[in-house]
Amino acid sequence: MAKTDLFESPDYYQLDELFTDEHKLIRKSVRDWVKKEVSPIIEDYAQRAEFPKHLLKGLAEIGAFGPTIPAEYGGLGLDYTAYGIIMQEIERGDSGIRSTASVQGSLVMYPIFAYGSEDQKMKYLPKLATGELMGCFGLTEPDHGSDPGGMTTNFKDAGDHYLLNGAKMWISNAPFADIAIVWAKNEQGKIQGLIVERGMEGFSTPETHNKWSLRASATGELVFDNVKVPKENLLPNVSGLKGPLGCLNQARYGIAWGAIGAAMDCYDTALRYAKERKQFNKPIAAFQLQQKKLAEMITEITKAQLLVWRLGILKSENRATPAQISMAKRNSVEIALNIAREARQILGGMGITGEYPVMRHMANLESVITYEGTHDIHLLITGLDITGEEAFK
Ligand SMILES: Cc1cc2nc3c(=O)[nH]c(=O)nc-3n(C[C@H](O)[C@H](O)[C@H](O)COP(=O)(O)OP(=O)(O)OC[C@H]3O[C@@H](n4cnc5c(N)ncnc54)[C@H](O)[C@@H]3O)c2cc1C
Repeated sequence: MAKTDLFESPDYYQLDELFTDEHKLIRKSVRDWVKKEVSPIIEDYAQRAEFPKHLLKGLAEIGAFGPTIPAEYGGLGLDYTAYGIIMQEIERGDSGIRSTASVQGSLVMYPIFAYGSEDQKMKYLPKLATGELMGCFGLTEPDHGSDPGGMTTNFKDAGDHYLLNGAKMWISNAPFADIAIVWAKNEQGKIQGLIVERGMEGFSTPETHNKWSLRASATGELVFDNVKVPKENLLPNVSGLKGPLGCLNQARYGIAWGAIGAAMDCYDTALRYAKERKQFNKPIAAFQLQQKKLAEMITEITKAQLLVWRLGILKSENRATPAQISMAKRNSVEIALNIAREARQILGGMGITGEYPVMRHMANLESVITYEGTHDIHLLITGLDITGEEAFK
């Protein structure tokens, strides 16, 4: 059953005054699109564990694919605040749909833009921006998640091509992607990026089933069995872990904004419900215990909004450090997950149903807190940054 989206955005500290007219216009157009195209259908797709592929065209049209990429390569050349706003509004609809946009823009277009040859940029970026081509990003392996430097996927020089072997897992968009940015070790053990295309012999993308989280996002494996990759598909301008980490920095930045969108949706839903739902002859919003939950939610949302607003400026000025991005990703996801859990309680029994978006956001955020660097790993990044002591190993 199609649902009406009554969302009203919380802005407790009048942050609107800090955004340009262009930012507000972008926010309005993405919010309108989410209300019209995502909210009415997303619950059904999540329940069926199906990715709503028909949304790809609309995502491209609202500028969700690579908005910071320069116009000459098909992007919009927007600043990072605009990018953050787009991610916030899409994730307000669903974290899975935001994941698709994050992967396409930050993990597929960005590495081609930042590390690719001019020919690669011209060949792939314009088509990725319009969604004519979709991509995925293969870093994680069955035995190497938080520690990607241990990866075993590898390629060898075989004369006029490379021979790629190995496997990746937990790869968003893999089941339908046309291309994959694959991080693999060369014969010297150095990590490099390859553009692998669907249809190359020995390359398959089996879908991962039975997820209770990000159900409306397609996840899969990437399997490489002696895949012949043309030499011109190697990303020439980066080697080492800094290649994939540079991409993750972009995507984590988007998540820092995106998770706040999910939090805002949960807060807005819970506030409206608390005002309407009566028990003991009073709206439940009149009870102190429910007010505590709502008051803490808006406080955390406001703090997180301020954090990412500042981060956006630093990022646009190319001054945001990876550790600052880690802090914001970690904080936004943590507050969003806590808010989703509290909002679910405010909704009582209704909170566990698909009549409201809260339980879906809550389940989605269980992936968001783990991918793109787990909650623990981001804390360790902050720990390293402030103490100079590495506690990973
Ligand atoms: C739905 C979904 C989509 C994803 N999409 C992608 C994608 O598109 N591309 C991609 O490459 N990957 C993707 N991932 C993978 C994701 O990035 C990994 O799951 C994540 O990096 C964690 O790796 P892991 O699951 O192997 O957990 P592990 O690394 O095994 O970690 C397990 C636990 O141990 C903790 N831990 C690990 N090391 C340390 C340490 N040194 N100190 C303290 N604690 C530690 C972690 O914090 C975690 O709590 C996706 C994952 C999910 C769930």
